[in-house]
Amino acid sequence: MGAHTHPDMTDVLKARARLGGQLRRTPMVISESLTRRCARPVHLKLEHHQITGSFKLRGAMNAVLSLSEEERSRGVTAASTGNHGRGLAYAARKAGARAVICMSKLVPKNKVEGIERLGADIKIVGKSQDDAQEEVDRLVREEGLTMLPPFDHRDIIAGQGTLGLEIMEQAPELETLLVPLSGGGLISGVALAAKTLKPEIKVIGLTMERGAAMHESLKAGKPVLVEELPTLADSLGGGIGLENRHSFAMVRDLVDDTLLLSEEEIAEGLRHAYWEEQEILEGGGAVGIAALLADRIPGKGPVCAVLSGRNIDMSLHNKIVSGQAWDA
Ligand SMILES: *Cc1c(COP(=O)(O)O)cnc(C)c1O
Repeated sequence: MGAHTHPDMTDVLKARARLGGQLRRTPMVISESLTRRCARPVHLKLEHHQITGSFKLRGAMNAVLSLSEEERSRGVTAASTGNHGRGLAYAARKAGARAVICMSKLVPKNKVEGIERLGADIKIVGKSQDDAQEEVDRLVREEGLTMLPPFDHRDIIAGQGTLGLEIMEQAPELETLLVPLSGGGLISGVALAAKTLKPEIKVIGLTMERGAAMHESLKAGKPVLVEELPTLADSLGGGIGLENRHSFAMVRDLVDDTLLLSEEEIAEGLRHAYWEEQEILEGGGAVGIAALLADRIPGKGPVCAVLSGRNIDMSLHNKIVSGQAWDA
């Protein structure tokens, strides 16, 4: 097979039209304390206030609404570390379709229950994203469900791109965008939209040191496997897929830099969000704030941290913000 056609700006605009008013247009706010501390305007895109608690609903809803009647009637399935599963469960229920969500034992209990409550069927399989994916493949093969993966899919990436459109409308003066990075669906869509509107904007992908699959893949020049490790940023875990079609190439071509954060830096981001911004974030949603606090972001102009999700186990969150010992 030749090169895959990646989603383009037209796909992002179509996604926005398709989603219409069904999703939240989340607020963009200035952080007074980070602006002072970093001596540059710091904006926060509060996407953790999206329905289902993360941006993943954008892609999932766009993908479900793009299915044919027949595909929708057979149902959808995905392997998910949590937030994509929630988004897909919500989107499928809205569209009147069955969703079967497969996940590994590493997924926190609060996330599993959250997805169940949204009306999806859950299958817990194995110890990694890859094990869960095998069950998805079986459902596709044997039961005719449509797989909607968390990031490496045209409609998913185009849906996440609607977040990039919103950001550039809300703060067109931005010089730098800080985007949490795992499989790269979010940052591909956001960078596509942002750089179409403003080619000189810098887009930086942020992830944790513990199991940074995209970062390692970019270094290797091709998708590589990394060991999955427990991390506070559990929604950034998992591989990018050795057969990656879109997100690896899009990240390689559109993203200016990637940065890795330690567990303690991420915890500090989460504490800052809580005590200074009155926001509850999950680890993966706090990496932008974490990088700013750690003084890791170059430049002096306006910067925006995308706060991507808030689905954290609240007893873990409580331990972290109250300064007790914690363990991801
Ligand atoms: C999935 C997720 C990410 C990363 O998105 P990718 O498209 O996999 O790069 C970041 N933050 C949160 C909260 C997520 O759920």
